[in-house]
Amino acid sequence: MLPRRTGACQSETWRRDRVTAFTQVDELLAFLELDRTRIPDLDAEPESWGLRVPRTFVERMRRGDPDDPLLRQVLPLTAERQQVAGYVTDPVGDACAERAPGLLVKYAGRALLMVTGACAIHCRYCFRRHFPYQDLGPSQARLERALDEIARDPSLTEVVLSGGDPLMLDDDRLDALIRDLECITHLQRLRLHSRVPVVSPSRLTARLAASLTRGRFASTLVIHANHPRELDEVVRSALLDWRAAGVTLLNQSVLLRGVNDRIEILAELSERLFACGVLPYYLHGLDPVAGSAHFEVDDAEARRLLDGVRARLPGYLVPRLVREIPGDHSKRPLE
Ligand SMILES: *Cc1c(COP(=O)(O)O)cnc(C)c1O
Ligand code: SF4
Repeated sequence: MLPRRTGACQSETWRRDRVTAFTQVDELLAFLELDRTRIPDLDAEPESWGLRVPRTFVERMRRGDPDDPLLRQVLPLTAERQQVAGYVTDPVGDACAERAPGLLVKYAGRALLMVTGACAIHCRYCFRRHFPYQDLGPSQARLERALDEIARDPSLTEVVLSGGDPLMLDDDRLDALIRDLECITHLQRLRLHSRVPVVSPSRLTARLAASLTRGRFASTLVIHANHPRELDEVVRSALLDWRAAGVTLLNQSVLLRGVNDRIEILAELSERLFACGVLPYYLHGLDPVAGSAHFEVDDAEARRLLDGVRARLPGYLVPRLVREIPGDHSKRPLE
């Protein structure tokens, strides 16, 4: 009998996912059997933040549907070029919260460490789409400085690995980083915020799960799915393996017009997450990042949608509706 999924196979698959990702709008549309004329506001060559979407994610889109909710999250539109009052390049005040390059401390006890600027997918609504990742400097020296800063502050009990996307690093580098963090005695918990498990599930290797669970930290993986159709059977199986390995699984979503701004979709997302071993954590109001205004759902509508979800589902399947306000001591509840 063949082994189910060896570490080596998994790692080859996720590397291939990265190399074969779509980066050309025309190729993506051809694959989806979509004529350009069906998307009048298409921006085939955006000035920045180019198209990037792995095939594994594209295969979950509906062919021939210009309004597909997965497609809308990645397709560049001319609306992004419009300047809209209140939509800025650093909507969440990251620049003011930097303790060291790539190390943000906004909330008590928690430090967020950007381990890389790269992402497997380019989400059009991303609040970090204008973040000056290139200014972060050479990565090893920068990480060491960040680790020194974390070590100097005993009030920190949790590190959130973020980015970009932390799962763009390979298993060896992540394992080395986790072991370094373990040496900082005041840390108790480790968290990863990543969209990779959803878009490229083979990245959830057994080896990496072991790295996260064999040490002294309680580890949590916070995934990012916005629509139930993102969670296919391959994703489900990979997530259930990680949960069985002892990693706590949570999800955060962004409320996006034309993607998940309906009660049925949000309720179905929560139920599908639960079937994947994941609990809904946050539903974020859109951060007003320049180029994303066409995704905005206003706060009154957001509350109405969440009320509808609450009327249908058990409390543990209702995410917390929040918004990030620069200077606050936590994400601000919108309810
Ligand atoms: C969102 C965020 C966190 C995590 O906040 P939780 O409410 O604990 O999930 C930590 N640090 C920064 C800088 C953040 O933006
Ligand atoms: S994966 Fe996350 S960080 Fe990367 S582009 Fe999407 S929302 Fe932004």
